[in-house]
Order: sequence, then C-alpha cells, then structure tokens
Amino acid sequence: MAASGSSVSLKLLIDKKTQKVIFAEAEKPFVDFLFHLMSLPLGTVIKLVSQKGAMVGSLGNLYSSIKNISQTYLQPNLNRDVLLNPKIATPSFNVPLLLAAGGGASQAKKFYVCTGSNGYACGRRSISEDPKAICPNCRSYISSEASYVAPVKADCSSRDNESGGGFVKGVVTYMVTDDLKVMTQSTISTITIMNDFNIKDFGSVEEKDVRVGVDEGLKLLKAALHTDSVLTAVFLGE
Ligand SMILES: [Zn+2]
Repeated sequence: MAASGSSVSLKLLIDKKTQKVIFAEAEKPFVDFLFHLMSLPLGTVIKLVSQKGAMVGSLGNLYSSIKNISQTYLQPNLNRDVLLNPKIATPSFNVPLLLAAGGGASQAKKFYVCTGSNGYACGRRSISEDPKAICPNCRSYISSEASYVAPVKADCSSRDNESGGGFVKGVVTYMVTDDLKVMTQSTISTITIMNDFNIKDFGSVEEKDVRVGVDEGLKLLKAALHTDSVLTAVFLGE
C-alpha cells in the first residue's frame, strides 16, 4: 500500500456472513490520518462533518449559533473565526491531506517580541501573540514581529516514510478494527480478533481493497462520531 496523491489504500477483511469488517490492514499513511483526527479542534470537526448533510448532534446547533449571533453582542475584539475556523494545533504537513477540503486555516501564527523602547534594550525577552501586549519589564508594546520557524523534518519521501513526518513509523503493518482500535499486526492479535468474531475458518472471510480519499476521510470522521462500526459503515455502506 502506498500513498498516491491524496488517497491511500486499505485492505479490508470482511466476515461474509454478517457483512461486517473484521479489521483493516493498514500502513502508516492511514494510521497517521486516524491519529491526526485527534489533533483537530472541535470547531474544525463540526465544520467538516456538517459540510455535507446534517449537523452532528447538538454541537452543530452550538456551531450555527456562534455563526449567527449578531456582532452587536460579541466582545468588540473577538473574531468569531477563532471558534468557527480554529487553527490546527499540529499542522503536520506530512500526514496525507485527507482533510484538505476545509481543514485549512493553518496560516502561520504571528509572534511578537519586546525589543525595548527609547534606545533602552529590554532584557526580558517577552513574547506575545498580540502586538498590543505590554512588556511587564519595560512597559513598552511587545510589537516587534518575529517569525516562527518550524523544526526541520527529515525528508521522508526518499525513504518510504520510515522516519520523520506523521505520527507512526512505517516499518510495520497496522491493524485497525471496525471500532478503530489500532495495533500493530501480529498472528496473536489476528487470532484474537478472529475469535471475537467467531470465525472458525478462512472460507467465511473475504478480502476487499478500498481507497481512502478526501470523501472517505470525511465519512470516517463522521462515522467515528456516532457508530462503533466505522469501517463497515464507510466501506460497506451499512
Ligand atoms: Zn520589555
């Protein structure tokens, strides 16, 4: 399995009798995608899952309320985008961009440092996200723009994603269960899961290769919020 463009492939093992996914065999890019979901702010999740179709639960109503409340009642310095379109905490650009459609808002964060005032070099090295913040040491604005430099990541494209980038290492194959338990693949874990499904022989299972792109990524996120048969729901159209 390899990542190609913005989609990754996945091998499903399906119980023929119940037409349920027993587990999926997955490589690094898919596991990275799943782990990446945890770094999404709630506002981003609600925005993503409500793009197509109905809002999820009451959080969708909360989201619309923030969108619709008149500016008159909001604090003057509040930009409602902080809540509706929050910045993603871990802009891990090496994770397959399954959520490219609207996951955005990853514009570079600005920082400001205190450089003192009136020829007085401040020794405090105060830093702020707001150029109107006042340095507690020299009482001048912390207004000198600094540029954030992300740490240099090892180039992983040439080494098959085995180091650097994403969250997990690419050296093993992972197993993802229907309810999104993620583990490294081993004979023991395979047998354990097969037993849980009461699978006695391999004749009662079938394999299916599927691709996960932006659409499936969104469906996965949505399904993960309301079912414990996520893979079945997304790929077998439960
Ligand atoms: Zn200062």
